Amino acid sequence: ALSLQEITRRFGALTAVDAVTLDIAEGEFFTIVGPSGSGKSTLVRLLAGLEVPTAGTLLLRGEDITRQPANQRPTAMVFQSLALFDHRSVGQNIEFAMKMKGVAPPARRERALELLSLLRLPRDYYDRAVTQCSGGERQRVAMARALASDPEILFFDEPLSALDYRLRKTLEVELKELHQRTGKTFIYITHSLEEAMVMSDRIAIMQDGRFVQVGTPQDIYQRPRNRFVAGFMGEVN
Ligand code: ATP
Ligand code: MG
Repeated sequence: ALSLQEITRRFGALTAVDAVTLDIAEGEFFTIVGPSGSGKSTLVRLLAGLEVPTAGTLLLRGEDITRQPANQRPTAMVFQSLALFDHRSVGQNIEFAMKMKGVAPPARRERALELLSLLRLPRDYYDRAVTQCSGGERQRVAMARALASDPEILFFDEPLSALDYRLRKTLEVELKELHQRTGKTFIYITHSLEEAMVMSDRIAIMQDGRFVQVGTPQDIYQRPRNRFVAGFMGEVN
């Protein structure tokens, strides 16, 4: 479905993403883990069209989208820092993309209410100010907003890392369910290998702009390719 061919991003002398080649299947939950500065966010920004690669090609169902801007791709992104519109209601936040596309208000509202229930938020949150939502609720609103444009692929850049442990655990389960219920492709970044092990179909371990190993959680756990991966895995038990 999504095919990365030698995707590279340099910033001056630094190669943040170094010739990454990979196919991600439709409907897959694909997780990227790796230390700080290994290039995870840069890679996902390239895939989302928020950044243009220095070299390489990106294909979506065989079509070259390497230079297609973010707003023309069937993708959406959920960030760690939520980037919600604080001065707007939950409903207005969720409806933002639909409004941009010219969807009529009643249809927008209906879809927003559906998304609220999909994310297990009460219907009356529709009129609530975003500032009156808790951290976990805000993250659910951000996910509803990303889903509102009905993207084929959702990117998540450490969406749970700012939340406390218990809430994170709850949302991990919800995210996995959300993935199953929507059948969409999820490409997910986390620092937490434990989180990756629970949720993913496949995990990529990133180091210095490259994937050191890509495999199922079981593969990586049982057969770490090198000491770096083994060391990384050592943190989970
Ligand atoms: P973290 O886990 O801390 O979020 P990361 O794996 O997401 O790290 P990136 O943000 O992708 O890492 O950064 C990879 C490298 O590229 C880092 O060395 C970073 O400083 C550098 N980098 C990222 N964006 C830019 C930029 N716009 N200009 C220059 N260097 C950048
Ligand atoms: Mg990052």
